[in-house]
Amino acid sequence: MIDLRSDTVTRPTTAMRAAMAAAEVGDDVYGDDPSVNRLQAIAAERFGFETALWFATGTQSNLAALMAHCGRGDEYLVGPDAHTYKYEQGGAAVLGSIQPQPISNQPDGSIALADIAAAIKPDDLHFARTRLLALENTIGGKVLPQTYVADATAFAKSRGLATHLDGARLCNAMVAGGLSERAAVAGFDSVSLCLSKGLGAPAGSLLFGSTAFIAAAKRWRKALGGGLRQAGIYAAAGLYALEHHVERLAEDHANAAHLAAGLTALGLKVEPVQTNIVFVEIASEDLPALKLYLPEQGVIATLGTRTRLVTHLDLPRAKIDAALAAFERYYAVKKRASTLFSAPKPGGTLPPGMAELYGKMT
Ligand SMILES: *Cc1c(COP(=O)(O)O)cnc(C)c1O
Repeated sequence: MIDLRSDTVTRPTTAMRAAMAAAEVGDDVYGDDPSVNRLQAIAAERFGFETALWFATGTQSNLAALMAHCGRGDEYLVGPDAHTYKYEQGGAAVLGSIQPQPISNQPDGSIALADIAAAIKPDDLHFARTRLLALENTIGGKVLPQTYVADATAFAKSRGLATHLDGARLCNAMVAGGLSERAAVAGFDSVSLCLSKGLGAPAGSLLFGSTAFIAAAKRWRKALGGGLRQAGIYAAAGLYALEHHVERLAEDHANAAHLAAGLTALGLKVEPVQTNIVFVEIASEDLPALKLYLPEQGVIATLGTRTRLVTHLDLPRAKIDAALAAFERYYAVKKRASTLFSAPKPGGTLPPGMAELYGKMT
């Protein structure tokens, strides 16, 4: 199957499974897992933070980070398109007693500094205490401009705010922007990074920060049910992913650009692509038929009027071409069938299979 729903669908490769099988393990709640400790130490060094902490999911690492930065009744500034705001069930508010203050994302994914300045609440007992600015990179597949990141983190600092980066797909931003790990995280007090998306590990997210910050996040991780025991099985996959699957993200980006170009050539409206995520407009009249036809052709996608297609480790160029070919056939059949059905010639017959295919598509 050609699964374009997300880069989370990637499965561990044979070599990654071998690394997992060979992993030395221990009880990580006691700090005894050598593989977890190795991954955390190597990653912290590589990204230039004092400490790193492994989590089972990105949602949990973001939540623990927000809870380590903010106490009950504090507030964090966040874009309404951000994962921590929109796609984590409002966990910061529900479980962390933290008020989110959404501020509009600009088309490039940034949050305007003037909007940040205006949202910071004065020290007054009527107001929540504004504590934190949370950004996301990549956001909707877009790479935050590096000058913006520098300005926004410096501005937040000057106003006494801490900064958190949801870097679930930060490696995509690094590869697309030609940035080193340390350059990509510069200015942030904490950063989360998913190992289970384009990097291909079966689970795992790293949270980076100072030793004191990570100690606080580790307490929350336990409260959130995230203290895993022999997590080294996963850590070995994460380490393998960091060592072998970062540079190759460039392939996913090239495949996304190729997919976008192919869809554009079919007359579809495609949003500009920066990394591994393609947004394409699909006419609502085509959705029912495409929802039947694409799975039959081995293509899985979350279809909507703004369809998101994601390229990843398990989709080499040939599979992208096969997906494009399925889209192409659909539009070709639709065109021929509509011609045939709208002006049927007396005695005219449909090409073999066309009536059946058309019937399935409508
Ligand atoms: C995937 C993702 C997360 C975390 O998701 P999990 O499924 O909980 O690992 C967080 N932020 C962003 C931007 C993501 O894309």
